[in-house]
Amino acid sequence: MSPEHVIIIQKLSEPKRDDEIATELGVKETVVRTLLNDLHAKSLVEYERTRNDSTGWYTYTWKRRDDKIDEYIRNYLMNKLKEKIEELEREKNGTTFTCACSRVSLEKATEYYFVCPECHEMFVEFDNSETIKKLESEIARIRSLLKKA
Ligand SMILES: [Zn+2]
Repeated sequence: MSPEHVIIIQKLSEPKRDDEIATELGVKETVVRTLLNDLHAKSLVEYERTRNDSTGWYTYTWKRRDDKIDEYIRNYLMNKLKEKIEELEREKNGTTFTCACSRVSLEKATEYYFVCPECHEMFVEFDNSETIKKLESEIARIRSLLKKA
């Protein structure tokens, strides 16, 4: 989901026609319709179709599905949490080395005899305590968001 999709969802705090949303955002109706179709494919919005008897044209009124959106956000957060926990495990278990330009595993550093082939600096052990601290606080943040979700 892109920021544009999030904007559409925000705009649907009440049911609206696609042309209304387009006017509010100052973008083409076709752009809005594409975004709405993406959201519809994910079951995050639904529409009601009404026929104008004099013109014979159909208008679509879009509604967001708050229950589905909550579920979507929950799944997203769960996946992020899993990802971050795995990343934290990797950081805690693996020793890595760093030079001026990159970060490599012990295997790679050994393979290059502890001299970087790119910047020609010595590889020194990377102190990942800051990375671990950052990951731990991200995990705590996701956990507290999940409690509210
Ligand atoms: Zn380097």
